[in-house]
Amino acid sequence: MLRLLSTAALVALAASTAAAQDTFTVGTATAARGAIAYGTLVVPPGPDSGLRIPVVVVHGAHPGRVVAFVAGSHGTEYTSIVAMQRLAPRIDAARLAGTVVVVPLINVASIEGMTPHLNPVDRKSMNGNYPGDTAGTQTQRALAAVARAVVDPADVVVDLHGGDLDEDLRPYSYWFRGGNAAQDSAGRALALAFGLDHVIVTDVDPASPTAGRSLSGYALTKGKTVLVAEAGRSGVVAPADLAALVDGSLNVLGALGMLPRAVRPVAHPVWLGGNASARLAADSGGMFFAAVARDTRVRKGDVVGRTTDYHGRPTGEVRAPIDGVVTFVRGVPSMWPRATLVNVAPVLASPAPWARPTP
Ligand SMILES: [Zn+2]
Repeated sequence: MLRLLSTAALVALAASTAAAQDTFTVGTATAARGAIAYGTLVVPPGPDSGLRIPVVVVHGAHPGRVVAFVAGSHGTEYTSIVAMQRLAPRIDAARLAGTVVVVPLINVASIEGMTPHLNPVDRKSMNGNYPGDTAGTQTQRALAAVARAVVDPADVVVDLHGGDLDEDLRPYSYWFRGGNAAQDSAGRALALAFGLDHVIVTDVDPASPTAGRSLSGYALTKGKTVLVAEAGRSGVVAPADLAALVDGSLNVLGALGMLPRAVRPVAHPVWLGGNASARLAADSGGMFFAAVARDTRVRKGDVVGRTTDYHGRPTGEVRAPIDGVVTFVRGVPSMWPRATLVNVAPVLASPAPWARPTP
């Protein structure tokens, strides 16, 4: 049967069609309003092999901001990867205002080859080569795809990490500051809402040519609100660390008003100085045995580890370079030149105003 529609009915039809087409797409994942979609960000082959990065889009029933959660730049920081795999099903798209994009694992070759720190395909850092290069090697092409499809459309970028296979790490968040008052204030609010009680304050110079190499730095220079949170260590997925990252991510959505969720920001965080933190690296190969655990408060000169040669003969002591908190310490007995042995961050009474870091 054919019948004419009134003008009002035609307008209503047009509006409902627009609503039905109101979708959000990342890679092959296209979610309608109020729905969740699973898909892939496809990185085609170039000078080396291609890559398929898993992506989840939760497109809220109500309009709002776009938040990207990214993990697995380091594919053996398992806790953060598992946390992001468990986050998306916890978000009720029917109650969500805005859109959540979850990328649980960028460095697929790392998880498949159990390779810490780097992408084994091209031996490059997948958290150190933004904005990427569509004509480069796999890491560069992958980061170009993440930058364009995930970071650029987002208002807020949350980057999840943890102790890698060789890192005995205590949980903490980073408050990255670029000197823009509104952006820095928004980042502080998210760090406290997330819920980890140690917050490392790190000042970035957005004008520096290297400021945008990491995911957080790239997002900061693009004007996004940025948060980095780390939990987990040494290949172990502990329930408490997992819960800290999942609950913290939901707290971010609560604090942004995107989900109905009561959030109690950390009232009295332990502020740590990121720019003044000290990383001790090995100057030779051999064996390392930590004398302190993560989270130990040390004084400058305290013994934090001992080294031996491959015969087992003592070769030296490793001493804390500054007073502070052991944010992480080497968790395996092997070391090689430039391998990180310990990282100590000074405790701040309160964060000083942003200051341009010296290069
Ligand atoms: Zn990491």
